[in-house]
Amino acid sequence: MKTAEIAGGGIGGLAIATLLARDGWSVRVHERSAEIREIGAGIYIKNNSIEVLEQLGVFDGLIPYGTQLDYAQIQFADGSVKQRRALTGLSRVHVFPRQVLIEALRDAALAAGVDVRTRSTVESATPDGGLKLTDGSHYRADLIVAADDGVSSAVRGSLPMRSGFRLLPTIIDRFLIESREFTREPRTVEHWSGNRRIGVTPSGPQHTYVYMVAPQADTAACKLPLDVADWSARFPLLAPLFQVLAQAESTQYNYGVVDCEKWSMGRVAILGDAAHGLPPTLGQGAGLTLINAYALAHFLRHSNSIESALREWETRVRFISDRTQSWSCRYDWFTRQWPTQLDFARPLVAWSFGRLRFLNDRMRVADRGLRLAGISLDEAHA
Ligand SMILES: Cc1cc2nc3c(=O)[nH]c(=O)nc-3n(C[C@H](O)[C@H](O)[C@H](O)COP(=O)(O)OP(=O)(O)OC[C@H]3O[C@@H](n4cnc5c(N)ncnc54)[C@H](O)[C@@H]3O)c2cc1C
Repeated sequence: MKTAEIAGGGIGGLAIATLLARDGWSVRVHERSAEIREIGAGIYIKNNSIEVLEQLGVFDGLIPYGTQLDYAQIQFADGSVKQRRALTGLSRVHVFPRQVLIEALRDAALAAGVDVRTRSTVESATPDGGLKLTDGSHYRADLIVAADDGVSSAVRGSLPMRSGFRLLPTIIDRFLIESREFTREPRTVEHWSGNRRIGVTPSGPQHTYVYMVAPQADTAACKLPLDVADWSARFPLLAPLFQVLAQAESTQYNYGVVDCEKWSMGRVAILGDAAHGLPPTLGQGAGLTLINAYALAHFLRHSNSIESALREWETRVRFISDRTQSWSCRYDWFTRQWPTQLDFARPLVAWSFGRLRFLNDRMRVADRGLRLAGISLDEAHA
């Protein structure tokens, strides 16, 4: 029986663990936290994520806990709508509280027979299939998967390859509030005022997910708890929402980008944010992670050796992540750096990204999932 040791019990680690276990591998997941949990608030689950979650057999069970969105809208602070996109077909989107998603993935992994170990922190790996934990214990396996953190993947950092993490000067605050008062319709609205953005979206029958984005140099915007007066001056129509957010828990995060020269070395595969961490401007980090996990299991199933499977995996699917990472950075640049003197042109650019199909298709290339790489998702694993 083939064996796999997986570093990280997040979305990527649990997904690949389940897929491999269902293919007959003996799989162990090492998660450094005391329990399997997600930090953050809500999560947009797009078509590519949904296709893999369906294969994992967890999507139908998730549906009641989330909201399927009808359309996405960009709206200026005066209430004028600048872009509206229908979210149907390959653009379909559901929004969930993050914890619901990770628990579904954990349960799928356990049901597939994965050994999920918490309080188990990985220190390093070697290309020949060795894994070392911080408590000094060593493991050996046919395959090691590093799905252990975008910012500072211990496994990635221990391998002799060029890789790193760059912080971008953009801050995002995220909130999950127990109310649908501000999100009665199944739509996501991104409100823009200068270089600040606020996303407000329903996230299941009882919750609303809110993210607030601003340049790091905008010190008033980066204050927590929220500076209600300052935000209300910029977005007067959202003043009642800010009153609620000021009382709510939030997480603050700096946008960042992972540069990873290679996605594998010997018997070690690098998966998820550890391989392609990107700004969350397109809501695609988990989507890329899930399609890459699915593709990894696919190539391991069809190749003669682990090393050749890992090479083919990167050759065939990496371009989707690379393009999405570039577009996510462009979107961040456009919304953060756009010069105030050119504010008059901003609505036109926002409009053209919504209406011009070739631009939209390029930016949202990942929505189309693994069909872009010629991989079909009909190898049922449920
Ligand atoms: C602000 C923000 C908003 C986002 N919104 C969206 C969205 O709407 N839609 C979307 O698709 N994506 C979104 N993403 C991206 C998405 O969250 C990530 O791409 C996804 O979580 C990556 O999964 P992962 O398994 O690679 O990493 P993670 O989910 O980060 O999991 C890594 C796991 O490894 C554990 N770990 C770390 N180091 C070690 C170690 N040394 N040993 C053992 N365990 C370790 C961690 O505790 C964690 O549980 C967003 C990201 C951010 C930051």
